[in-house]
This record gives sequence, structure tokens and C-alpha cells, in this order.
Amino acid sequence: MVKIGLEVHGYLDTREKLFCMCRTGASELGVGGLKLGEKEGGVNDRICPICTGTPGSKPMAANEEAVKKMIQIALVFGSKINMETVWQRKHYDWADNPKGYQTTVSGAHASVNAKGGKFKGINIWEIHLEEDPAQWNPESGKINYNRSGLPLIEMVTAPEFSDSEQVVEWLKSLVISLSYIKALRRNAGIKVDVNVSTGGERVEMKNLNSLEKIRKAINFEVARQLEVVESSGFEVGSKELMELLPQETRAYDESKGITVKMRSKENASDYRFIPDPDLAVMKIDSKLIKEIKGKMPEMPEVKLARLLKTHKVSAGDAKILARNLELVEFFEELAKSGVGGSGLGVGKAISWVTVELLRVLNYNKKSLEDADVDIRPEHLAELIKAVEAGDITVLKGKQIMNDFVPKSFSLAEHKGEIGNIDEAAIENLCRQVIGENAHVVEEYKGGKAASLNFLIGSVMRLSERRADFKVAGDCLKRLIG
Ligand SMILES: [Zn+2]
Repeated sequence: MVKIGLEVHGYLDTREKLFCMCRTGASELGVGGLKLGEKEGGVNDRICPICTGTPGSKPMAANEEAVKKMIQIALVFGSKINMETVWQRKHYDWADNPKGYQTTVSGAHASVNAKGGKFKGINIWEIHLEEDPAQWNPESGKINYNRSGLPLIEMVTAPEFSDSEQVVEWLKSLVISLSYIKALRRNAGIKVDVNVSTGGERVEMKNLNSLEKIRKAINFEVARQLEVVESSGFEVGSKELMELLPQETRAYDESKGITVKMRSKENASDYRFIPDPDLAVMKIDSKLIKEIKGKMPEMPEVKLARLLKTHKVSAGDAKILARNLELVEFFEELAKSGVGGSGLGVGKAISWVTVELLRVLNYNKKSLEDADVDIRPEHLAELIKAVEAGDITVLKGKQIMNDFVPKSFSLAEHKGEIGNIDEAAIENLCRQVIGENAHVVEEYKGGKAASLNFLIGSVMRLSERRADFKVAGDCLKRLIG
């Protein structure tokens, strides 16, 4: 029987590091500790004696923002939050670890930050906070301490997954849900340790940092183990099989698409965990938990249900919206504007968001949450209403939307340039098109109906999409006779 469990590591989206006041550089908005316009990256420009492990430096009390985000995540899972935690030192010697230990709430003697709970049918074993080590480049030997001390959250599931598809779908849902509480750093991604057992001991695969790698690594490892189980003929869970499939850590080799043994249980690292004497016991007030609970935003499934019910949005559109908090909030603002006319509801106008808005954003490789993108729901509402009222054509509306990235505008500012043109003006354009395309006109007369579309298209182009499609077609037919 295949059993898969996960340890998911994510960067918490805080302004400052876990035990010092260095900025995290989490986002380009300034909210993540960067000044507006300041780019992510950089080398050793967000460091201090604490996060570089300078002898004599002492950590500050744990970052409250990180603790609050941990509590939010625990509430999403319905985990039981530990009201008193003791920070532990996890010792290991490596170039990325200047103090010689990592400060964490895990390890043999730790009582973790929160236990239990469930997410999408999978039991959660625990969640805990820890600091990130520095970034060490083994080729150049250079160390970037900007990453040292960033707050990490680790979430551990029960081994209840049975295949890679289930794991990938679950992780997608997790990332979406955690984006609703803005818990994780955007674009920082997650790192996942996956453990797989199929009847023997459990095998762990470390540091898988993309869904694609997770999928491939699980598929390979499950197949490798099942092959051993079947060819050996030993019973599942038997001592003989345990010896053939011992507990070990394996690495996924992306270039070969296989997993290779890194170390076995016998020489597993001994981290010599001890409580950190420089940090006080971290006490969490139940009032704080209550306060955070009161402010928790709606989760995706609640939003999804409300979109379906209140706005009569189709299931497909609702799913597209609920995947992205910024998009769903944009739509909710749009819905307040009365778009869709009386009785029709905003559901009719939704393709302007789920199709057109996403189209222009994707084309420009932008998203709504980008700092330099400023698209206002009221501007799109104005545009949709103008189309509904017949003041501008659908094509013109779509063309205007192309110019909404990065910054949208009110149609009132461009009134003379975008409104529909009248029939007399359309007729003039039709005459021009007929004059310039004599051979196409002949084709149409000869029975090639599609030629009319070419002529209509030419009228639309000349009018900068301000001519009514149908009026142009009728006019051409009349003139050609
Ligand atoms: Zn620092």
C-alpha cells in the first residue's frame, strides 16, 4: 500500500527577519520590508551581527508578525496551538550556518507550535517555526547572509496521500488558501520533503522545489519500491522487506529522472538539540488567538460558494476567480458597480474578467498584484456599461482593454476618440473599402460568402473598431447590391 507524507516549508511574508530587525526583502511593494522600487536580491545588504552569527550577538525575541502568521495558518488547519514554546538549537556544521546551529521549534525535545488539524481531507501532524540558513554557493564559496534568519514555517502532514496527483492538487489548494491570508512570501515558492513507503520502511526525498519535480520524484520512487516489493515476493511489512527497503534519505536527480541514495538511517545526522538559553519561553496569549480568529478572511471554498450563489457565476468562472485572491476581489468590486444591467446580474459580464482581463495581463506578463499594475474595477465597469449601452462596440471595448495595462483610465478622458461612429460615417468607410478591394467584391458577388467578412474587417480596422459590426455588414451588402 502506497503511503505518502509531506513536510512543506514556506517563507512567511514578514517585514523583518525572525530574530533581528533586518528587512526580509519579501516583496517589491514595500510591505515585505523593501522600500518602494527597491528590487529583491542583493548580496549581504540586509544583515546585522545577529543574522551573521557574530560572536557575542544575542537574538531578539521572535518576530511577532511571524508568530501571528503561524497562528493564522494553524487556524486554517484547525490545529491546536501550543501556548508555550521553547526555542531549540539544532546543531550542524555547514558554511551556510554561521552560528553552528539553527534556531527552530522542532526536534526531539520540542513541543511544536501547533498540532493536529486537517486540510482538504489530509491530517496535519504539526506546524512549527524556524529560521532559514544563509545562502551558500558551493562553486564560488561565497555566502549571502540576506537569507540568514528569514522566518520559515514547516507544515507536516500524516502519510495519507496515495499518489502524486493527489499530492500536487493538495499542494495547489494549500498555496491558494495560504495566499488568502497572505501568509507566505509571494514568488518565493515552497520546498517540500516527501516521504514514501510501500510496505517497507519510509524513504524521504529532500528539497523538492517545484510541483513538477514533486510529481516526477514520487512517481519514480513509488515505482522503484513497488518493483522491489513484487520481485522479492516478501510480505508487505515483513522484516525481510524492511531490510530490502530500509529507511533512508534519497535525492531526486532531475537530469536523470531518478532518485539516488544520500544517506541511511544508521548515519543520519545527530543534531544535538538543546533549548536555546538566549531566548525566553514564547508565550502566546489566548486573547491574541481570538483576535486573529475574528479577523480571518474568507477561505477560497467559502468565496467559491458565495460567487455561485450571490452572483450566479458559472462553476468554471467561479473556479478561475477563486484561485486568485486579487482577481476575486477585483470581481467583487466590479459586482458592486451594477454592471450587467438590472436583472441580468454580473454573471453576464464575467468574461470581461475571466477572459479579457486575464488575456491582457498574460499578454503583458503582468498580474494584478504587481506593484506597477493599477487597473481599477470602476474603469472596467464603465467600459462594460458603455458596451452594454451600445455606445462602443465589443471589439472596441476589447481594444481599449489592451491599453488598461499597466494603468486603467476613465473612458470620459477619451470620449471623442472611442465612441461609436454614426451610419453616415460607416457608409463612407464602406465605399472606401469597396473601392480599394474590387477583386474581393467580385469574389463575393461570385458567391464566396466569406469575402464579406474580409470587407467588414477592413471597415472595422479603418474605423479603429468604432463601427458597429452589423451596421457595417448591412451597409456593404446594400452598396454591393
Ligand atoms: Zn539581521
